[in-house]
Amino acid sequence: MERGGTKSFKVFVLANILLIGVLLSAVESSEMDSSSVNTQEEGKIMELIRFVTDDFFFADASVTDKNLLPYPQKPKKDAKQEEEEKNDVVDKEDGQEEEKEQEDKNEEQKPPEKPKEPRPTKRPVSRINTSQKKVALTFDDGPNAQTLTQMLDILAEYDVSATFFVIGSTAKANEHLLQQIVDDGHQVANHSYTHSRFSQLNYEQSRQEIIKTQNIIGNYSTGRYFRPPYGAYTDTTLEVAYSEGFEVVMWSVDTRDWETNDPDRILNTVKSNTQPGGIILFHEGHQVTLKALPDVLQWLISEGYQFVTIEQLFDL
Ligand SMILES: [Zn+2]
Repeated sequence: MERGGTKSFKVFVLANILLIGVLLSAVESSEMDSSSVNTQEEGKIMELIRFVTDDFFFADASVTDKNLLPYPQKPKKDAKQEEEEKNDVVDKEDGQEEEKEQEDKNEEQKPPEKPKEPRPTKRPVSRINTSQKKVALTFDDGPNAQTLTQMLDILAEYDVSATFFVIGSTAKANEHLLQQIVDDGHQVANHSYTHSRFSQLNYEQSRQEIIKTQNIIGNYSTGRYFRPPYGAYTDTTLEVAYSEGFEVVMWSVDTRDWETNDPDRILNTVKSNTQPGGIILFHEGHQVTLKALPDVLQWLISEGYQFVTIEQLFDL
């Protein structure tokens, strides 16, 4: 109240001074000789004006401004205060780091613990231990419309059953090809949904890749056999596959048909690496595979080999 009263008084004084000022200037303009005006008196008036305005505008302005602020603001910190607070933060971080280091040291002192998830006792199968001269031919990465019909024709010609490890996303768009494969007496198996590198996938991602594919091929295949793309897997991959009831299938003969144009090279790889119970890896989509296949089959037959699907091989 007292402050408001003072303010009103100052406004009153200021208004009067302004009025005086107006009157003075009127007198000045009416007289040609302005120097005749009592300058001493004018100086006093100006001093009074400055005193009142300074006090009014600069002393009370802060109060007025504060009331207009939309949100309360933190009072400004001086540089020293800010520096001190910064150091506090750094100290805290250092403290946390030290605590962590301490924990690490404690960890080192403890006797080594067993990993939480035990290593899967089952391992991927690349060959069945048998003396029977039986082999499984496997074709990855399809179903591939470009080569499948010819491939099926060649296999039929030699009365050979094989296994097709298909990619789920491709299979989904080509279920009629899956039908052709099983109609010809072959097996369809799981080669993931997007041909991802499983060594870079977590548990759930791995599970999705396998299960999504199995949901599609399950109508065309009885067994649960999974081959990780690129042969890349981790213990997590195996945990997923085994807990979902799959066998993990690798190979014992890698024809590397995807990197050659020479059918003889494929034949020679098969000749030098095939053993009873072996699993031979080919791929769909390569002309060189189609070219090599008749000679490969003829040689295997001449060696006394019989052809089984992966499911039949696991039953040996
Ligand atoms: Zn593949």
